[in-house]
Amino acid sequence: MNTRTDLIIVGAGIVGLAHAYEAQRRGLTVRVIERDWAPNGASIRNFGHACITTQTGDLLDMAYRSREGWLAAAQDAGSWARDVGAMLVARTEAELTVIEQLHAERGDALQVLSAQQVRERFGTAVDPDPRIIGGGFMRDDLRVDPRTAAPTLGLWLEKQERVTINWGTSVGGFSGNTVSTSRGDFEADKIIVCVGHDLDYLFPELTEKYEVKRCALQMAMAPAPRGYELDQSVMSGTSINRYEAFTLMPGHAALFAELNDNNPDLMEMGANVMFTRRPDGTLLLGDSHSYELTMPPFLEDQITDRLVSEISTIIGRPLEVTQRWQGVYASSSKTPLLIEDVTPAVRCLSVTSGIGMTLCFGLAAATLDSL
Ligand SMILES: Cc1cc2nc3c(=O)[nH]c(=O)nc-3n(C[C@H](O)[C@H](O)[C@H](O)COP(=O)(O)OP(=O)(O)OC[C@H]3O[C@@H](n4cnc5c(N)ncnc54)[C@H](O)[C@@H]3O)c2cc1C
Repeated sequence: MNTRTDLIIVGAGIVGLAHAYEAQRRGLTVRVIERDWAPNGASIRNFGHACITTQTGDLLDMAYRSREGWLAAAQDAGSWARDVGAMLVARTEAELTVIEQLHAERGDALQVLSAQQVRERFGTAVDPDPRIIGGGFMRDDLRVDPRTAAPTLGLWLEKQERVTINWGTSVGGFSGNTVSTSRGDFEADKIIVCVGHDLDYLFPELTEKYEVKRCALQMAMAPAPRGYELDQSVMSGTSINRYEAFTLMPGHAALFAELNDNNPDLMEMGANVMFTRRPDGTLLLGDSHSYELTMPPFLEDQITDRLVSEISTIIGRPLEVTQRWQGVYASSSKTPLLIEDVTPAVRCLSVTSGIGMTLCFGLAAATLDSL
């Protein structure tokens, strides 16, 4: 058996698979090594929101490049992707001010909406929060289905001549150009480690250097209320408080103070109150943020209940939760993207800011450019 390829990618989450997609497009032979039998990490537990508009600087360029990659990969692999933008809901002047300030920088990429425009987008049969005074439309954001995007891409990649995926195969160590696994050794010219928040199991000194912790988020799913028509992801004031494009605006300080005064419980749980839709119309609801090296698996019911009640207030309809889960991603206080060559042959990559669905294909293109 020829075990040598141009590239080995460790981890078949969306970051690893996006790298495999980009590599095979460029004519390289690739082996993906995944310890599980299907993608089962952060990449299937998220909102599926490629939040292009809320990025800044180099990450904004990377996000736009990723957008192209998502659309190309979805077409090739036959996975579901909606190029429909995303909506921001403003219920206070402070929230609307920050949206207007970013609009002044970004122009049509972030359009300011009136209260009536926001309400119309939800559909005439629902009755959104009467406190809505306006909002924003982020034209270039994408929506993909987190439950199927990575698995579908993995299945498609497996059928490509230049790609092999070893499922159920755990990587334990590296020596020169060789990767040691639970099914023997494999060699490649370059090895890219994309194991998300489990990078500390392989390279603990590296994750200590970047102060990487696990960030856990509580999520839930509910059928959309009857008459709910909105196709876009929806973000609220607590979301505006979390993304750098907004936090750099002069109006952010007032919004931050207002959120602390009016919603201390949401701020305490690190809430980003947002929701989006799966292809079958169900709503993905979230989220909270907590940070630990070892993450307790236990869900706090009152956190999910509070998030769901806030979303229910925005929509103006009760929501009946049918699933609850915890998602975990890597988080660093030092960098939004951990990229380091630990040896001449081995590069580690982890999106350490909770935006791996947004950046994955742009990051993959940048990695392949640099090899
Ligand atoms: C609840 C939640 C909501 C989110 N919402 C969004 C969003 O809307 N937009 C956005 O841009 N981002 C979002 N994110 C972040 C995004 O999901 C992650 O950044 C992204 O999925 C990380 O992808 P990954 O491939 O690095 O990690 P993962 O998907 O976790 O994949 C890593 C893979 O590596 C494998 N692995 C680990 N160790 C080994 C080993 N030793 N040998 C072999 N295989 C190994 C694992 O089994 C796993 O399959 C969210 C995250 C969460 C948790």
